[in-house]
Amino acid sequence: MVQLSGSMMPIRESIERELLALRQKGRYRELPSVTQRSGNRIRIGGKLLLNLSSNDYLGLGDRREMLDRYLVTLREAGYAMTSSSSRLLTGNHPLYGELEQTLADLYGREAALVFNSGYHANTGILPALSTRHDLILCDRLNHASIIDGLMIAAAPYIRYRHGDYQHLEELLSDAAGRYRQLFIISESVFSMDGDLADLERLVALKKRYGAFLIIDEAHGVGVFGQKGLGLCEVAGMVEGIDMIVGTFGKAFASVGAYAVMDTLFREYLINTMRPLIFTTALPPAILGWSLAVVRQQAVMSDERNRLQALAARLRNALRERGLAVAGESQIVPVVAGGDRQAVLLAEKLAAAGILALPVRPPTVPENSARLRLSLRADLQWEDIESVPELLQGL
Ligand code: PMP
Repeated sequence: MVQLSGSMMPIRESIERELLALRQKGRYRELPSVTQRSGNRIRIGGKLLLNLSSNDYLGLGDRREMLDRYLVTLREAGYAMTSSSSRLLTGNHPLYGELEQTLADLYGREAALVFNSGYHANTGILPALSTRHDLILCDRLNHASIIDGLMIAAAPYIRYRHGDYQHLEELLSDAAGRYRQLFIISESVFSMDGDLADLERLVALKKRYGAFLIIDEAHGVGVFGQKGLGLCEVAGMVEGIDMIVGTFGKAFASVGAYAVMDTLFREYLINTMRPLIFTTALPPAILGWSLAVVRQQAVMSDERNRLQALAARLRNALRERGLAVAGESQIVPVVAGGDRQAVLLAEKLAAAGILALPVRPPTVPENSARLRLSLRADLQWEDIESVPELLQGL
């Protein structure tokens, strides 16, 4: 009989082994049983907890009066719960046009294009735009959806050290003249570290080397900027960035994503971007809600200011107790190091009525497991003031 090597083991057996190893390492994942959500509280596994693991940064998903208003619109307009087809066939409801025009106008850019999710956007844009004659330079800590896009793209890529623009410049200068096009891609607010990209520097580099700059503002939109357009608005860099990607799934309290860009690139993506072409369009019911949220959030700078002040206060309080806290945004990560330690800390908070889920590798680099405290504008200081003490002695 043929002896099978480890990697040739029958699939069930090898999967069972892998799952066991994940359990032993404290890396096993389960889908939590979320039975109820209301404002910043969440009932999970039967227990009501303060929710510090939500991306609904403005609390818009739980604004009852806004939802009720939208439900009336939905009924009156008769928006369907399915589009039944891709955008290029019969799924391109007029709300797509209205939403895209609204976004383009808000940003003051030529055009916008809406996608089914940020994941669709990031796995589709670079594979569509780049060829094997190009080079993509990607921040090392960019989100998994961006990395998956790099795997699909025909162009080679290099990941530059996180936020190290010196390193990026070395790579750009080394690559200059050797490729049809250089691309740079970075998040603005990094999802797991809560720190900020230097957009001014990235735009300067992009200009110097004629690169095409894509910024993923998934965690920036709704949270930064007078109109909630993200860090690009704060930095005054909306014009200088070739493509700004935002999602509706976080502060915009819906589902889907968009990018703002020049008309030429919109036209090209419609013709070439596979996750746009080969998927069922978003339901009109969702598009209508996204439109309502985009308009509403544009006038919520008080909430944005409150959120940032709250995050700054929490970061300071954590640092005063000697905790390793990264970030400069509403995402406040407390790095525990070991996977088990992060899990234990999460359990400690849960016992005190606070939900902050541990984030472990491969989502974050090895030995940097952490609690990702994610704040919302509808929290009061009193809700979270016990957190630093609970985490002390890490
Ligand atoms: N980009 C970043 C930086 C993200 O954090 C996420 C979501 N975690 C995405 C893209 C994907 O967006 P979506 O959830 O809309 O698919």
